[in-house]
Amino acid sequence: MATVLRTYEPQFWDRFYLPALVQGLMITFSRIFVRKETIQYPERKHVPLEGYRGLHRLNKHPGGRIKCVACEMCATTCPSKAITIEPSAATWDEGAERYPVKFEIDLLRCIFCGFCEIACPEDAIQLTEIYDFSSYSRENLIIDKEGLLKVYDVTSKGNVYQRQNRGEKVEIPISL
Ligand code: SF4
Ligand code: SF4
Repeated sequence: MATVLRTYEPQFWDRFYLPALVQGLMITFSRIFVRKETIQYPERKHVPLEGYRGLHRLNKHPGGRIKCVACEMCATTCPSKAITIEPSAATWDEGAERYPVKFEIDLLRCIFCGFCEIACPEDAIQLTEIYDFSSYSRENLIIDKEGLLKVYDVTSKGNVYQRQNRGEKVEIPISL
């Protein structure tokens, strides 16, 4: 079906401007008593919905050992080729034969699609609620294994932003 485009032709009342002004003010006043969505960031933090895909973390077993077995499924699945893993033989014998000596994610390449999390057979990599991370340098935006494990430590105690809004001091890895 053809789309008909018409140019704007002012009507009789449009030439007085006043009706349009009143109409605009009515919309403004109608919003006065509606609950405000504005958040005074950074004093208050927006709490994203569950399932938000933010900064990654590498999960740990209850004993503190890294869950990742360096199978490289996440790196293979990653559409942005943002993950670099260097595997090595595990020195412990509790099932896992390998672990990552090096695990890096280039956050400037990452598109936060979550494919790495879906592909992981060990529930070892997870995207968290953290959205306000930044740096002035590109190097700082390549997060390494220690950084990813630190994100686990920070996020495993509960939603970071809910805790910050309650007044708890929570340091977010990779922040200015
Ligand atoms: S979220 Fe997507 S783009 Fe980012 S590291 Fe995971 S798979 Fe790659
Ligand atoms: S995070 Fe998961 S998918 Fe990626 S290497 Fe480790 S175990 Fe494999």
